[in-house]
Amino acid sequence: MFLWLGCAHPPPEGAPVPAVPAVSVAALTPPPAFAARAASVGSSPVREILALTERPGVISFAGGLPAPELFDTEGLRAAYDAAFAGSARRALQYSTTEGVPELRAAVADRAAARGLPTGPDDVLITSGSQQGLTLLTTALVEPGDVVLVENPTYLAALQCFGLAGARVVAVPCDEEGMLPDALAEIVARERPRLLYTIPTFQNPTGRTLPGARRAAVAEIAARLGLWLVEDDPYGDLRYEGSPVPWLAAHPGAEDRTALLGSFSKIMAPGLRLGWLRAPAALRRAVVVAKQAADLHTSTVDQLAAAHYLAEADLAAHIATVRAAYRSRRDALLAGLPGALPAGSAWNRPEGGMFVWARLPEGHDATALLRSAIAHGVAFVPGAPFFTGPADARTLRLSFTTHTAGEIAEGLGRLGRAVG
Ligand code: PMP
Repeated sequence: MFLWLGCAHPPPEGAPVPAVPAVSVAALTPPPAFAARAASVGSSPVREILALTERPGVISFAGGLPAPELFDTEGLRAAYDAAFAGSARRALQYSTTEGVPELRAAVADRAAARGLPTGPDDVLITSGSQQGLTLLTTALVEPGDVVLVENPTYLAALQCFGLAGARVVAVPCDEEGMLPDALAEIVARERPRLLYTIPTFQNPTGRTLPGARRAAVAEIAARLGLWLVEDDPYGDLRYEGSPVPWLAAHPGAEDRTALLGSFSKIMAPGLRLGWLRAPAALRRAVVVAKQAADLHTSTVDQLAAAHYLAEADLAAHIATVRAAYRSRRDALLAGLPGALPAGSAWNRPEGGMFVWARLPEGHDATALLRSAIAHGVAFVPGAPFFTGPADARTLRLSFTTHTAGEIAEGLGRLGRAVG
């Protein structure tokens, strides 16, 4: 509700605004400093270089952007029409913090179909899965608490934990992700609040944690007392191999895992729709945090997504996206030997959006990026994704945004940048 508090009647539209009286101030006292948490998480030099990748004509493997030409724009437009036609007044009104019932039910059905028994009440709709991460951090992490992460890991998660004043500690990883023995040792030593993990098609490495390691991580969390935050924005984007059950589905993880999902990679990131599945007490704490953050996620967007899930064929759409991304991944993998210096190594992700590469000894990915940009191509150096000492030879290449032809052209430019 809007309350006019200035005078008995608001001034008429177009009335002149009275001038602010000039007051002379003898000495200026600056306002207080920013909170330490804001000052501690600054901009990075890499982010400044990456701003250059937005220049027209640059073929960028840097951003993790879904391919816009694959958005189901007609289907989503029809879903918004249906949201308004159903009840525009409802679609435009405030709604509950937990999310609109139709969408919670649809999310629960999808999770149950993937082998994780889930009811609508287990689910909270969030403004992107990024918000789910922020809310969980608010609910679980005190300044100074230890948060464990894979090394390297998702940059915006590191920012989120940094803003909360957490002490972020890396768990050693190999080509298949986190090492459970190392995890157990670190948990016993550091007594962390939570482990944040992206077990499937990880960002930035594209790695997937095998089932046996998931079982071991769940067992360690149960035995040593630890919250698990399982972030899964990429799980639907599998191009080969068999799905691995969520960490949340493993014995020991049931009462201590928050699972984060997202519509960004399977519908469109601009919708800003994600979801969180968590045990009841944690979910209640997260709901209070969300009330304080934004009351609730956009009603009209949630209703449109619910209509989309009810009426469009999301499975067929995901199949289309998967086929396109598979061929783009293959184009990238086919062209890398001719583009990166001899002696470089990279993985072959079974899904997701990223290939993780390592240059041979003596090379530096940030230096290569400068020369790459001069040749009209970009990627992200791996360094900012690390906690603690960074491996300056690593880089992340996203293969989803460009067509196979553009990828080949971009790799030709990269090869020339390498010289
Ligand atoms: N987690 C990971 C690992 C991501 O890579 C991203 C986005 N790239 C997010 C969360 C945030 O996604 P959303 O758009 O759902 O907020």
